[in-house]
Amino acid sequence: MSIKIENLTHVYMEGSPFEKKALDDVNIEITDGEFIALIGHTGSGKSTLIQHINGLLKPTSGKIIIDGVDITEKKLNLNFIRKKVGLVFQYPEYQLFEETIEKDIAFGPKNLGLNSEDVSGRVKKAMSMVGLDYEEYKDKSPFELSGGQKRRVAIAGVVAMEPKMLILDEPTAGLDPKGRDDILGQIKNLHDEYNMTIILVSHSMEDVAKLADRIIVMNKGKCILDGSPAEIFNKIDVLESVGLAVPQVTYMAKKLREKGINISKNVFTVDQAKKELLKILNKR
Ligand code: ADP
Repeated sequence: MSIKIENLTHVYMEGSPFEKKALDDVNIEITDGEFIALIGHTGSGKSTLIQHINGLLKPTSGKIIIDGVDITEKKLNLNFIRKKVGLVFQYPEYQLFEETIEKDIAFGPKNLGLNSEDVSGRVKKAMSMVGLDYEEYKDKSPFELSGGQKRRVAIAGVVAMEPKMLILDEPTAGLDPKGRDDILGQIKNLHDEYNMTIILVSHSMEDVAKLADRIIVMNKGKCILDGSPAEIFNKIDVLESVGLAVPQVTYMAKKLREKGINISKNVFTVDQAKKELLKILNKR
């Protein structure tokens, strides 16, 4: 699968006094199997961008081409996009509404027009992909679950559409540390085990550093940086100038370097810091 975003511009309420250019000539190419983190200050255009990728918003100008098909064409069947790109909104559990978990997850596949056997197969597979035991949970109400588990059900509902790409908007917002780790572990698993292309919108540089192999930085509707974590996190000044930061441990490594300790510039996770510091200690 490939996605090409070409010269994408989006203006909200064009022609009114409240007109707002939320995306300004964005160009991004995404290939199969990438794990991309999308970061940027609030209001930088992240939500507007991801809603274009799954066809919820139409560009003011520009194109989005998925597997050679321009999804901004008027006549396109939305099911084409739903099978390619799944979008998990912020606080997706607010959209759970059925009386059982099984019914909730089945809602999307049913709407694709699949027969009941296929729907049931999709539900079982999606539950196992997000680590929910089918027999244990299928008849429970989604509302009986913990925050983290509810979110898994909501993610399973999108995964059951079997999209090649999954976009998640702040999937750990509002969860406790264990819930956060669980959800991030599940997302990593969807990427590593099930080969899904992931776009993770996140404010946590720690999470981004641990998971992503590519980072896209948005500011004022523009994509201002796009590269590997090493390329992006070495641009501390640019990130800070747009209200972002690097992981805490990267600041620590920078301080140590300033004090004359020869620690690598590419320290973005606690694990990397541990390895680097042990290397230095072992040399002494
Ligand atoms: P982010 O997800 O990075 O916080 P958004 O894409 O939500 O950014 O917003 C980008 C800009 O577009 C902001 O200035 C925001 O106020 C504006 N905006 C977002 N949604 C709407 C809307 N429905 N109507 C008008 N302006 C909007």
